[in-house]
Amino acid sequence: MNDRDLYPESWEAISARIRFGRAGGRCEQCGIPHGTFGYRDQQGHFHSLVQVFAAMLQGINPFEGDLAGVEPGKPTQIFLQCAHKDGNKSNCTDENLISVCPKCHFDMDRPGQPPARSYGRRYRLHQYDLFHSPSDEAR
Ligand SMILES: [Zn+2]
Repeated sequence: MNDRDLYPESWEAISARIRFGRAGGRCEQCGIPHGTFGYRDQQGHFHSLVQVFAAMLQGINPFEGDLAGVEPGKPTQIFLQCAHKDGNKSNCTDENLISVCPKCHFDMDRPGQPPARSYGRRYRLHQYDLFHSPSDEAR
């Protein structure tokens, strides 16, 4: 039995209903909207492209501040996930499901633990460049 066998057949519909119906297309932990482009700093804070451009218009170079070391040409796009609060993938009651961004999902799986270097490696799997459509991942 692999992980996928634990999910109900209607998982895609359930997941979409939680993420875009109940949660209104936002992370239910941090509130970030699905599809937002931006950058995650070393502390895990997200800076949307709108915030970055706003800073630049004020003459601030965000890539010399919180975002030092981040590649400006490679923003991340937030792609919401539907997570199981109790970690049991076959428990798909509404109360057990939550719409989360990849960062909040990662933190949920490691409660009470400080940010780990492995977060960066795993998180990069969810990064896109400007020419990669999020719909590519859904296929
Ligand atoms: Zn979040």
